[in-house]
Amino acid sequence: MSRFIPLSIPNFEGNEKRYVDDALEQGWVSTGGAYITKLEQMLAEFLHTENVAACQSGTAALHLSLVEAGVKPGDVVLVPPLTFIAAVNPVRYQFATPVFIDCDDSLCMDPLKLKKFCEEECTFSDNVLYYQGNPVKAAIVVHVFGNMADMEKIMETAGSYNLKVIEDATEALGTYYTEGKYTGKYAGTIGHFGAYSFNGNKIITTGGGGAVTANRSETVDHIRYLSTQAKDDPHYYIHHEVGYNYRMTNLQAALGAAQMEELPEFIRRKQANFELYKELLGDSAYGRLLEFREGTVSNKWFYSLEINRNQIGASMREIITALEKRGIQTRAVWGLINEQKPYENEITYQLEKAPYYASRILNLPSSTQITEEEIQYVAVHVKEVFNEVASV
Ligand SMILES: *Cc1c(COP(=O)(O)O)cnc(C)c1O
Repeated sequence: MSRFIPLSIPNFEGNEKRYVDDALEQGWVSTGGAYITKLEQMLAEFLHTENVAACQSGTAALHLSLVEAGVKPGDVVLVPPLTFIAAVNPVRYQFATPVFIDCDDSLCMDPLKLKKFCEEECTFSDNVLYYQGNPVKAAIVVHVFGNMADMEKIMETAGSYNLKVIEDATEALGTYYTEGKYTGKYAGTIGHFGAYSFNGNKIITTGGGGAVTANRSETVDHIRYLSTQAKDDPHYYIHHEVGYNYRMTNLQAALGAAQMEELPEFIRRKQANFELYKELLGDSAYGRLLEFREGTVSNKWFYSLEINRNQIGASMREIITALEKRGIQTRAVWGLINEQKPYENEITYQLEKAPYYASRILNLPSSTQITEEEIQYVAVHVKEVFNEVASV
């Protein structure tokens, strides 16, 4: 049986072709055009925020946030170890220094360790936090797999130590609070900056693309200005700052506008599919499906099965290969960023949970097109493979 269930593929069931054709016919294919503004407005409306700037990638959105946060060479930025490396690379683009703070069981930054690091490892004077003599300017907080980080506690600590919080909401478009201080607030709109990604594997895609928002509308305007080579005048080439070529193109935005129309349906399917996986795989001797934070509605972008290492001695590679043979594409969670070559000499703070989860999480197929029957097939075969490889 030549069955193939992909990990995550894009879904173009809506107006994608129509809008992209329209952009082509109008001749607006580059960094100007009505679809860019339209996508920005759709995002702002969806996120209940005032102003959003569309850009070329989530990485560019994060980089511009760091620039705008005033992160300079030698500054320290607090970052997560267990996520996609793109969340940390922009720190290096600014010649700043990352310090890796552990995650908690949500896989997002541990707010208690963040606080403890600031309290016990740093000094605070004249409203500036210093670590080993260097200013700690910001924290990059990733909402891993669509799961909201504990923003209440994180913002409290950030407030105490004058840190800028950059939310990496690249995986969490549509996740929001239903309880607590931030009720109704969407991931990416709580901190000082929020970055989104529309890469091919994200919940909506523009091929490649991203967006950035900030707690002040003028800040977003300035980010938009920086993203278009900091051009000060529409007709003459006047530039007062060093800019970037980070603006989204109209072709990408046409795709994005169509995807935004479908986003609520995509989220609904991700949520329903998660419930079905939970019913079928739930809690077993071999593993459990990681839940999303209580008091939030998550976009449930990616599903994580935590493998019980006491039951299953097989390596992740063996498990993934066995599933692949059955036509099921799965993935191990990322390797720790602090163990990657460019970052292996950087400072880490109390990493316990991150290495724990790094060796235990298997991501399951999560495309919006996946059928109930396919999910049932995945569940049956995951159990079979675990039974086969379990070391008794
Ligand atoms: C996808 C992703 C990014 C980068 O987004 P791109 O659009 O691919 O540049 C950054 N951080 C995390 C956590 C991501 O998953």
